[in-house]
Amino acid sequence: MPNEEKPEITDSEWEVMRVVWALGEVTSKEINQVLQDKKEWKPATTKTFIGRLVKKGMLQTEKSGNRFIYTAAVSEEESLKTLKAGLFHHICSRAVGKTIADLIQEATLSHADIALLEDALQTKKKDAVDEVACNCVPGQCTCRKDHGKNCKH
Ligand SMILES: [Zn+2]
Ligand SMILES: [Zn+2]
Repeated sequence: MPNEEKPEITDSEWEVMRVVWALGEVTSKEINQVLQDKKEWKPATTKTFIGRLVKKGMLQTEKSGNRFIYTAAVSEEESLKTLKAGLFHHICSRAVGKTIADLIQEATLSHADIALLEDALQTKKKDAVDEVACNCVPGQCTCRKDHGKNCKH
């Protein structure tokens, strides 16, 4: 599957986007107020990341008097979707189940979260396959090492 035309966002840029998603319309000063507490960023650091996000098309900017107001050009929901797709894009389709199980093990979950996961698993049970096919290209496949199986690449 070729990579979608979505910009990659660094961890620092995520920090900025989270502020914009939470507050809506913000100035760089307001973004910095949040992130100087959390990350000890200087205003110049915040401005650098804002500039990169504008370039990537993640932030929109509008001039109001002598200030710039920033708003999100991409929703949080859409960005999370890209992030989740990206995670599984970097691993073999055969390793996805184990990776999800590991994520669950590491997460702090409420009873409601667990009920949600149980529902999701019940639904997935209906179209479970006997064996997930490897989607690696030759030279990236580790099936032989991981599962003792040769792939038909
Ligand atoms: Zn594979
Ligand atoms: Zn393989």
